[in-house]
Amino acid sequence: MRVHVADHPLVAHKLTALRDERTDSPTFRRLAEELVTLLAYEATRDVRTIPVEVQTPVAPALGVRLAQPRPLVVPILRAGLGMLDGMVRLLPTAEVGFLGMVRDESTLVATTYADRLPADLSDRQVYVLDPMLATGGTLAAAIELLLARGAYEVTAICLLAAPEGLEHLRSSFADRDATVSVVTAGLDEKLNDRGYIVPGLGDAGDRLYGVV
Ligand code: URA
Repeated sequence: MRVHVADHPLVAHKLTALRDERTDSPTFRRLAEELVTLLAYEATRDVRTIPVEVQTPVAPALGVRLAQPRPLVVPILRAGLGMLDGMVRLLPTAEVGFLGMVRDESTLVATTYADRLPADLSDRQVYVLDPMLATGGTLAAAIELLLARGAYEVTAICLLAAPEGLEHLRSSFADRDATVSVVTAGLDEKLNDRGYIVPGLGDAGDRLYGVV
């Protein structure tokens, strides 16, 4: 499994502001979007393209355009929704599917409550948006579902990751043919006994949308 921790001063600057408990929801939403656009740049490094030729005002030029089938972007509801605009800003032609997953706070086990994805994902490159890779249970269940539908490559984009979550994904997908990658703005120290990332940024859904 490929893990890329973005190493860029703008990423670190925005992540620090996101972590700050004084950052209000509107600012948090804007910063999360901006951060995702920066992460999307890294995450799409291997997006498939085909060669094309265009005519400039001066001469023919060789270039590329995104290949078919289009990349699929899958925010995991609820908090992944706060990452969608930042992602499609960079990939406006991507198809978007939705996956609703919730984790039981006592068992930390994830269950699916909404599935708005194509039934057949054969040959698709999929970008999953989930801000917090904590225990990895939710993301592993989401990736499992995508691979079961034939996805050929799955890249998870996370604002923050914990070592426990990365290890969970590594062991879950170590012996698969499909490529699974994680791109994150930061790799934190650990999880606390409530499954929160330390130091983290708190509950990403609550910070984006307020406490329900
Ligand atoms: N989900 C969150 O929103 N925050 C964490 O720290 C862990 C899981």
